[in-house]
Amino acid sequence: MTNIAFIGLGNMGGPMAANLVAAGHRVTGFDLSPASCDQGRADGLAIAGSAGEAVRDAEVIVTMLPAGKHVLAVWGDILTAARGDALFIDCSTIDVDSARKAHELARQQGVLSLDAPVSGGVGGAKGATLTFMAGGSKEAFDKAEPFLSQMGKKVVHCGEAGAGQAAKICNNMILGISMIGVAEAFVLGEKLGLSHQALFDVASTSSGQCWSVTTYCPVPGPVPASPANNGYKPGFAAALMLKDLKLAQEAALASGAATPLGAEAAQLYDLFNKAGHAGADFSGIINFLRGESPQG
Ligand code: NAD
Repeated sequence: MTNIAFIGLGNMGGPMAANLVAAGHRVTGFDLSPASCDQGRADGLAIAGSAGEAVRDAEVIVTMLPAGKHVLAVWGDILTAARGDALFIDCSTIDVDSARKAHELARQQGVLSLDAPVSGGVGGAKGATLTFMAGGSKEAFDKAEPFLSQMGKKVVHCGEAGAGQAAKICNNMILGISMIGVAEAFVLGEKLGLSHQALFDVASTSSGQCWSVTTYCPVPGPVPASPANNGYKPGFAAALMLKDLKLAQEAALASGAATPLGAEAAQLYDLFNKAGHAGADFSGIINFLRGESPQG
């Protein structure tokens, strides 16, 4: 049993912390939202009055927060309150620059740190089937890996500080672009009189094959578990896809990488969000391309 502090008990952090409790750890949580704290108590966490109080005896400290500014503010607060041998793990999706700054804060304090964003959504957080993409030293990774494995099914060490965030935004840029490509192909197929099933049967076994076809097909029917069969309820909300595409664009600008299709995908998801569909699943963009509401 390990003393773990968990800061940020929202849609993702709440169930992740609950899985650490289920694995037998003593978990002390903190969140600014009283409702999230209440849910944490119900899941078996001890709830502290502040982030500083939560980390005081912790050997491992996990943060799961909205954006880079929150992570830097919270790490800035708790690094001095934590034990000198504590391991800091940030699982939020944040910009690479902030992730590197957070590592630097930890280094100045002499503690190990890891950026370890996740893929798999709320379902993966609840079912402990997340994929973790980790950046940091081998020593930090080796120490964190057993705990990450209790919250997920796959843990990949991507490289040094910030490499986890880099892998996350590159992966999600592929996803945003590929979903738009698949959606356009299904809309074109409709205009040409092709059935959804026929296009799926071909594309899922041909060179058009990708996750957006085989696992998350944006039309109802071929993949029964995809959000298209459930009124495009998320799933993975369009607002989060836009967040990740914008992070990818920031990183592309800062590093000088040419990502014209990533830029186009960010623009399209921005329009989709501004049209009022931020809460819809990101695959609902197919209906937007048809000029319809995300529910079809
Ligand atoms: P959320 O908004 O549900 O949870 C964030 C929590 O952080 C909230 O409960 C909020 O009260 C808390 N918080 C904010 N500032 C705080 C502070 N200073 N101290 C303590 N608590 C604070 O968001 P979420 O869906 O759980 O996402 C968390 C992170 O995971 C984000 O970076 C998101 O991009 C990433 N992510 C989300 C999903 C998803 O499907 N929801 C999937 C992959 C990654």
